[in-house]
Amino acid sequence: MNRVTSVILTALLTLCNGMAQEKPLPIIDMHLHALPAALNGPPPTAICAPPQEWPTHDPSQSWASVFMEALKNPNCESPIWGGKTDKEVMDKTLEILQEHNIYGVTSGSLVDDYFQNSPGRILPALHFSFFNKDLNPEKVKSMLLTGKYHVFGEVAIQYNGVSASDSIFEPYAKIAEDLDIPIGIHVGTGPPGAAYLPGLNNYRAKLHSPLVVEELLMRHPKLRIYLMHAGYPMIDDLIAVLWTHPQVYVDIGVICYGIPRKAFHTYLERIVEAGFGKRIMFGSDQMNWPETIFVGIEAVQTADFLTNEQKRDILYNNAARFLRFSEEQIAQHHGNE
Ligand SMILES: [Zn+2]
Repeated sequence: MNRVTSVILTALLTLCNGMAQEKPLPIIDMHLHALPAALNGPPPTAICAPPQEWPTHDPSQSWASVFMEALKNPNCESPIWGGKTDKEVMDKTLEILQEHNIYGVTSGSLVDDYFQNSPGRILPALHFSFFNKDLNPEKVKSMLLTGKYHVFGEVAIQYNGVSASDSIFEPYAKIAEDLDIPIGIHVGTGPPGAAYLPGLNNYRAKLHSPLVVEELLMRHPKLRIYLMHAGYPMIDDLIAVLWTHPQVYVDIGVICYGIPRKAFHTYLERIVEAGFGKRIMFGSDQMNWPETIFVGIEAVQTADFLTNEQKRDILYNNAARFLRFSEEQIAQHHGNE
């Protein structure tokens, strides 16, 4: 075969392979962020995903410096390094969404950039906490009324030491219920030692419990609500809440890559064994380490106690039901039209 023929044949083969490659089954990431590269300290920082063991701490030193050291010099075999610039983090994140056919419910300060660069894959969500002094009830209501936001979340008031049932959050919950916009509330784990990190001194372990949303649910029975981070590690409280309040869903943000894999699988298995597999949604909680999305998906795919159908429920079907996607939208995500 002469060289020209060989080049043409190779090109044809590449083209055929490309055409034969099927679009991967769609995934909905209910907990994606659009945040700066410097979110967890001067970039680049890394995370052990999943980690094996946490650093020890002698309280004569500051926990913030121990934690920072762990992100700068990760003690594991294959750490995941974040991007050096905001653009690098965004480009990599959007590339992963495209490659794995992921649709991301996305919140954070850079969400408009992400949406402009990938309007088909980014479903904007309105991040909220009491740190943001610009957001009062009127402002939140007018923003949600624009129709731009698919979810009111991440509601991260746990970092303010406030539970979603506290009266100070009441006006915001009423807005989400009245406008029938799904609400995602951070209930569960933040960074290790969060209460000792700068600005987070009101963080408390007791607010990991899903029981904190109970009064909110009774006051607002029409809220479409999901607990981001699935109330980790308060499994008994979570099962009690899922049992008592059948409208509640959870996502597996951060726990799918940020805790030891066995601990994640044990937690996930408990929820499924209790009969609540239809109310678990995939969420990555990708912040500034885009490849954690992939690790999170792998954590579901490798759960040998799940059937293929249960995996598809977690990765797509449950979120599609929760978000009330139409049959047309679902067909489109599957590449059937
Ligand atoms: Zn969170």
